[in-house]
Amino acid sequence: MSANTPAPWDALPIREELRGQSAYGAPQLDVPVRLNTNENPYPLPEPIVRRIAERVTEAARTLNRYPDRDAVELRTELAKYLTRTCGHEVTTGQVWAANGSNEVLQQLLQAFGGPGRTAIGFEPSYSMHALIARGTGTGWISGPRHADFRVDVEGARAAIAEHRPDVVFITSPNNPTGTAVEAETVLALYEAAQEAKPSLVVVDEAYGEFSHRPSLLPLIEGRPLLVISRTMSKAFGAAGLRLGYLAADPAVVGAVQLVRLPYHLSAVTQATALAALEHTDTLLGYVEQLKSERDRLVTELRALGCEVTDSDANFVQFGRFEDAHKTWRALLEQGVLVRDNGVPGWLRVTAGTPAENDAFLDAVRAVLDRPG
Ligand code: PMP
Repeated sequence: MSANTPAPWDALPIREELRGQSAYGAPQLDVPVRLNTNENPYPLPEPIVRRIAERVTEAARTLNRYPDRDAVELRTELAKYLTRTCGHEVTTGQVWAANGSNEVLQQLLQAFGGPGRTAIGFEPSYSMHALIARGTGTGWISGPRHADFRVDVEGARAAIAEHRPDVVFITSPNNPTGTAVEAETVLALYEAAQEAKPSLVVVDEAYGEFSHRPSLLPLIEGRPLLVISRTMSKAFGAAGLRLGYLAADPAVVGAVQLVRLPYHLSAVTQATALAALEHTDTLLGYVEQLKSERDRLVTELRALGCEVTDSDANFVQFGRFEDAHKTWRALLEQGVLVRDNGVPGWLRVTAGTPAENDAFLDAVRAVLDRPG
């Protein structure tokens, strides 16, 4: 829809703040190499596919009934996974799950944001934070980052003190920059947020498993308003499953249950997620491969003369281009789809299989006119 053609829904009596907006979404183009949405390039291995089929078959026998409304078995397995991989004991009552971490974040804003309230994020960051804020009627405040994309701690503290937001988003590793946030930064912002309001601090760790650093999850201990949000979309190679989860104080889990739709997590979703969780070690093996491919992309892009932001995620931000969108289009003409997140001068590429990454690097060489 072009900027000056009114969309058909603009003529409807929709909420004023939605008028003139377009729906979120990266282009889904049919090109040979798609490295634009931070998906895991590895399909689930056959034994996991078979186990999913078994568990879904079992669930199908009772589909006449509503699913476990509180997803207790799934939350218990997620708690075990977090305890094992994040170096901190987490109980079932501290975990909540929903249809993708986007829904987890939406439920948090439904419970802690809403009309007359505000949320802050440090941009550039995951654009859905602002969009979910808008969808829930929560005001949005854009907080600062340094030029190298690290969170500007002093600026962030000042913005929190000034605006007294109800929800603070910290994305680590950050999307689209790949930047990890230090534990000290989270602690400083948590302290500022408690002094200002107190307010909920949400650490979005969608890419946590890909980081060089340990998870920030142990910080929830003794901090009743700190939430860690996670997803099975990336590390578990299950973006199509739609399963996100959080870890926080049980009171936060209780608050989220006030706004969740009853039976929001289908029996099929719960069965599929449980089957995947039985094979965590296999799936984390792919994460290791992707981490080393990510590091290779950083090294090779730098060798080609690109500027590259240090990455702790399964993607890499590279630039700087006078006209990033022109470079995006030139790469597309070479059959490689990357992401233009609108950060001036920069593009983002997701780490794919070694062959996909080679194709991407060849395309960059061709576009920059560098010898192979
Ligand atoms: N947080 C961040 C930082 C993300 O990049 C994404 C996905 N792009 C999500 C949350 C949402 O992921 P999902 O809903 O698939 O769990």
